[in-house]
Amino acid sequence: MVTAPPTAILTHVERLTSRQQMAVDCVRCARRLGMAGQVWGEVRHRGLLFRLWICAPECPPSLVGGVT
Ligand SMILES: [Zn+2]
Repeated sequence: MVTAPPTAILTHVERLTSRQQMAVDCVRCARRLGMAGQVWGEVRHRGLLFRLWICAPECPPSLVGGVT
């Protein structure tokens, strides 16, 4: 079992929206975090350290992977 280190995933800060960079929206599903959120990890981008937040305990399934 190989678990990808967060830093390997969190390398696309430039692709996030400003709301995601500012911890307003989830960085995985772009859903507004509101009261529920957890720190996913931190990534350095252009000399700045971004703390990325995702839904807690996890992203709503209906908003992950799309709905068919
Ligand atoms: Zn989410």
